[in-house]
Amino acid sequence: MTFEELGLEPNTLKAINEMGYTTPTPIQEQAIGLVLMGRDVMGIAQTGTGKTASYTLPMIDILSNGRARARMPRSLIIAPTRELAAQVAENFEQYGKYHKLSMALLIGGESFGDQERALDRGVDVLIATPGRMIDLFERGRILLSDVKILVIDEADRMLDMGFIPDVERILGWLPPLRQTLLFSATMAPEIKRLADKFLSNPKLVSVAPPASPAELVTQAMVIVEPRDKREALRALIKSEEVANAFIFCNRKRDVAVLFRSLERHGFSVGQLHGDMPQSMRTETLDRFRRGEIKLLVCSDVAARGLDIADVSHVFNFDVPSHAEDYVHRIGRTGRAGREGRALTIAAPEDGKYVSAIQKLIGKEIPVIALGDAAPLALDESERKGRGRGRGGKPEAKPKEPRAEQPRAEQPKADRPKSDPRPPRAERKPEAEAKPEAERRPRPERERERERDSRRGGRRGRGNLPADEVAEMEHGDDVVAFGGHTPSFLLRDPFAK
Ligand code: AMP
Repeated sequence: MTFEELGLEPNTLKAINEMGYTTPTPIQEQAIGLVLMGRDVMGIAQTGTGKTASYTLPMIDILSNGRARARMPRSLIIAPTRELAAQVAENFEQYGKYHKLSMALLIGGESFGDQERALDRGVDVLIATPGRMIDLFERGRILLSDVKILVIDEADRMLDMGFIPDVERILGWLPPLRQTLLFSATMAPEIKRLADKFLSNPKLVSVAPPASPAELVTQAMVIVEPRDKREALRALIKSEEVANAFIFCNRKRDVAVLFRSLERHGFSVGQLHGDMPQSMRTETLDRFRRGEIKLLVCSDVAARGLDIADVSHVFNFDVPSHAEDYVHRIGRTGRAGREGRALTIAAPEDGKYVSAIQKLIGKEIPVIALGDAAPLALDESERKGRGRGRGGKPEAKPKEPRAEQPRAEQPKADRPKSDPRPPRAERKPEAEAKPEAERRPRPERERERERDSRRGGRRGRGNLPADEVAEMEHGDDVVAFGGHTPSFLLRDPFAK
């Protein structure tokens, strides 16, 4: 099938041709005709399938007739992240270059003034993240009564990010007579409920998750202990011909830590995560696009929807706990017909996440050795107390090599000289030690308590000996739980 056969306008076809697209992708084949007919569409498609063009192309054709009135957008696209919203806007600009459509992008972190001025002039297409959209509507800066087409993109991601109530609120402000297009990577029950409630006689179109990007992406995995992950990453970067790369971490806190570590090791590196101001995110991305930084450490949320054609590598510093995120991450390379490499650093306890990923992509990720070291084996059993939450949080924080992270603990030399006990590692476990302490004659324990209280009252934190309490005294910037792990940290909140 060709784009001409889908019934798109000559000006749109010209823009597509200039983009170098020769044939429609499966989601485009299925959705474009339906959207042009004015049908509601429920599209199950992930990024990388060409789903953005499957709604932007027909929308350009539909909106090319008619004019927008001030502050009354004719169509609305809601996207979960600023990056995805910006990406959709970029697509409209590229595909709509031979049309005179006006567009506004409402995203947090950008100046209200510019966005409001654009709205005042009247826009055909409004692309917004839910928070900013609600903000402007509530301040009376925008009227939604003229919206004829609504697109909700990456609804599953909205669900993950807790935006569904916001989306429902916005839907309540729209005229009931409209065309609605809902795109999601999966048909989770909540997404189905949303579709049943807000779509009218929708046509379901569905394409397989893009196992296709994976075809151009060579995948491999190394298995190391968590504390060796940074060293493994550095070794991988050095052994590969990396032109540029995304490095994914599961948590944004780890993004910052890994970024600093790579910077200290002299790599050309930037970071991207959801807590950064939008101006800094945009600037970092531009620098990455221009090749001024080679490596970009990022979280899934920040990287969602990023479309940079020429990325040679993706490194997974952490195995994602959602298998779809893996597909999404590796799809950042091997784009636009180019080859890419995706290398994952797994720890033995990531076994069950690796299995889920392999099941989804339908093949095994080959394990490679790092240097001379034989790879470790994956452990697929559920490790009680070491489980991870949905966000893939390892509860036991990987130990840093000494050179990279000064230990907050008091150095051994500073310990009270009178400490007659063997080093911590050689001590008996607390369970064994405790009864022994309790067997000591009571007066001795009382004398000890008195002595400690004279020394500044350090005793009184449970029954810990004074020197252990001293070990717990940290600088203000250190949060510590001393010798105790609070029970909420030991419980896996997602354990069935
Ligand atoms: P998306 O799934 O919308 O994130 O699109 C993934 C990538 O595919 C983007 O880089 C698009 O520019 C590109 N793309 C979309 N449609 C086509 C097509 N028909 N042929 C080639 N590339 C396409």
